[in-house]
Amino acid sequence: MNRSIFTPDCRFEPYWWDRTPRPELATRALPVHVDVLVVGAGYTGLHAALVAARAGRSTLVVDAEAAGFGCSSRNGGQVSTSIKPGLDALARRHGADAARAIHAEGERSLEWLGEFIAAEAIDCDFRVAGRFHAAHSPRQFDALVERVKHAAPGAASDVDIVPRAEQRRELGTDAYFGGVVYRRHAAVDPARYHQGLLDRVLAAGATVAGRCPAMAIEPVSAGFRVTTAQGVVAARDVVVATNGYSGALVPWLQRRVIPIGSYIIATEPIAADVMARLMPRDRIVSDSRKVVYYYRASPDRTRILFGGRVSFRETDPAISGPLLHAELVSLFPELAATRISHSWFGFVAYTFDELAHIGVRDGLHYAMGYCGSGVGMASYLGMRLGHRVIGDAEGHTAFDDLDFATRPFYTGNPWFLAPSVRYYRWRDRRG
Ligand SMILES: Cc1cc2nc3c(=O)[nH]c(=O)nc-3n(C[C@H](O)[C@H](O)[C@H](O)COP(=O)(O)OP(=O)(O)OC[C@H]3O[C@@H](n4cnc5c(N)ncnc54)[C@H](O)[C@@H]3O)c2cc1C
Repeated sequence: MNRSIFTPDCRFEPYWWDRTPRPELATRALPVHVDVLVVGAGYTGLHAALVAARAGRSTLVVDAEAAGFGCSSRNGGQVSTSIKPGLDALARRHGADAARAIHAEGERSLEWLGEFIAAEAIDCDFRVAGRFHAAHSPRQFDALVERVKHAAPGAASDVDIVPRAEQRRELGTDAYFGGVVYRRHAAVDPARYHQGLLDRVLAAGATVAGRCPAMAIEPVSAGFRVTTAQGVVAARDVVVATNGYSGALVPWLQRRVIPIGSYIIATEPIAADVMARLMPRDRIVSDSRKVVYYYRASPDRTRILFGGRVSFRETDPAISGPLLHAELVSLFPELAATRISHSWFGFVAYTFDELAHIGVRDGLHYAMGYCGSGVGMASYLGMRLGHRVIGDAEGHTAFDDLDFATRPFYTGNPWFLAPSVRYYRWRDRRG
């Protein structure tokens, strides 16, 4: 391992936490009875809690770690529609109407997040930056153009096709073969957004307890009995919002989400003229590889935050850092001597159909499985979940009737991850 690639004070935790440290919440005794108990204090859980608390329900949120410790304060801060399968693929599986409705839900989640942040006046560097989605081969460029042509009505009007010859107006590299710009996609400081959301949940009267894992949930006649590390709580309704950090608490959910590590580095500050050359339009960026890389400038445009999956198995951020750096330098050779100031990772939750899921099972409400793209969708489905819990019609979504599939013998340990990453890497190399 090449240690000199790290700055002497390199931190192996999210860059975002420098500006927004994990919140220290006042410790007080947990209520013995609540209307709504939410497990998980990320975007999903907090949005569900916000709706419930504002509707007058007594609401408790517990998190096994500090609030927001999961993906919601450690992501890349890229906001998209979050729907991975294309319209045609979804239409083959679910029919044309359901496919259009799911895509429309993705568009709505993107729009809704911007509206929510503006309405709540959350100061979190939210900006409709546009996403440059780069093609890693000529074949993928053609596929992107096709996908734009077959997009849901309305969506295509917000997309610009960028041929390779014009690529440098978007990004200072020739490593790609053109791409598309999704004009409405946005950038946010994810931890500041999480903190703003948490402040509003607390202001709405909910209790949020950090370092308080839920250890067991048992059905009782009036709802559920939840055993936590800080005591037992009776709850009429329970929301499970644990996403990639779901353990054995609800085995049915554990069998349906696949925890996968996603890794990021932040560079030390780079010169303004270099940044202007590499990221002239200040877009968020992703590429067409199945084992995708995603990157952007920090909100103050001093650093590049570069993320992706660089190992077959889960690994230490001290090991993933140099591997990500090598990928960064392959795109931008002039960053070869630029060091890493932060390297971290988190667990996203994939699903077998690459769609998020929301629903109720054995009386437990859940939303999860954002497949690595949940800043908008986790927020949006969390909000919808809150409406479901309080029994109002706004809880309805296009995801409601989807089968949440598992696979035989899968119990939550993704033994197939390493061979799958190997296979997708091989496919990516073939273009
Ligand atoms: C490195 C990385 C980069 C990403 N980049 C992007 C991006 O740029 N754009 C994008 O859209 N998405 C991105 N994502 C995904 C996005 O951040 C997530 O989809 C989203 O934050 C999920 O929110 P959540 O609330 O469902 O889950 P989380 O924020 O993960 O919260 C789940 C919480 O549940 C808690 N928990 C688990 N078990 C228990 C228990 N038994 N008791 C109590 N609490 C429990 C955990 O401690 C955790 O805090 C990224 C994710 C990672 C890890």
